[in-house]
Amino acid sequence: VKGNNRDHYKCYEPSISKRLETQLSVETALRKAVKENQLEIHYQPQKCIVSEEVVGLEALVRWNHPEQGMISPGLFIPVAEKTGLICEIGEWVMREACMQNKKWQELGFKPVVVGVNLSATQFHQKDLVSKVKKILDESGLEPKYLELEITESMAVSNEEYIIRTLKELREEGVLVSIDDFGTGYSSLKYLSRFPVSKLKIDRIFIDENRKQNKAIVKSIIHMSHSLDMKVIAEGVETNEQLDFLRQERCDEIQGFLYSKPLPPVELEEIFQQNTYH
Ligand code: C2E
Ligand code: CA
Ligand code: CA
Ligand code: CA
Repeated sequence: VKGNNRDHYKCYEPSISKRLETQLSVETALRKAVKENQLEIHYQPQKCIVSEEVVGLEALVRWNHPEQGMISPGLFIPVAEKTGLICEIGEWVMREACMQNKKWQELGFKPVVVGVNLSATQFHQKDLVSKVKKILDESGLEPKYLELEITESMAVSNEEYIIRTLKELREEGVLVSIDDFGTGYSSLKYLSRFPVSKLKIDRIFIDENRKQNKAIVKSIIHMSHSLDMKVIAEGVETNEQLDFLRQERCDEIQGFLYSKPLPPVELEEIFQQNTYH
């Protein structure tokens, strides 16, 4: 870097202390948010590509700030991860999502699977499996209606621990999927050893304007099926994308084409359209 470039860069790079200050104030506000029930969950429908019925929902946390309004998780989850607050938040999301899903079943809606994002920190908590069991017991939700979304980045360390934990979760009857598939470090060796039920193709590959993406999506779908996994495409926004995914026999889709994440009341309107057993 040339001298003047570096100076130029310096002007815009917030100092470490400034960043720390920002993180601390977000952390304080976030702790308050957890305590005062400012967090809520929106659910994004996942549709079977063949029957076009809702078969699943992804639980996505939002921060309903009293002054700032709705804050997206992209802004506060990273802070929650750095400060360890993610464990408390993640557990709350899991409990809330299980209870809500059970409630919908009791209302007579056709059962769906609820997907919950699991951060790496949560995954590496020694008592994760017993926590999941406890939440299922308390909510009364059958394990097959809970899916935990993990990311490839968790796979880089302690492979034996990961495989053991995934096996324990599977023995409990909980589903596990790999989120943002294709963006992280995942070797095929891991994939064949990890007992996961589904791959979620990251939305960067669903954009068909890059020619290579179609080839990537095709091979992810074919690979999932040969490993006996289901595959879902995230971020589907257009009918062209849907047609391509259908032609390639993708199992499920999630994206704005069908619905954005919605608060529970609005979802019930969509459920009304789902056929009953
Ligand atoms: P993610 O797990 O990959 O979730 C999917 C994100 O894509 C959501 O953003 C969703 O609103 C967005 N999305 C869905 N369909 C479309 C589409 O068609 N087009 C576009 N452009 N976007 C679409 P959201 O809700 O802002 O969440 C962002 C990220 O925050 C999530 O990415 C996830 O990594 C994290 N997150 C959200 N809730 C939780 C949580 O409870 N725990 C943890 N650990 N992370 C969470
Ligand atoms: Ca996810
Ligand atoms: Ca994702
Ligand atoms: Ca993502």
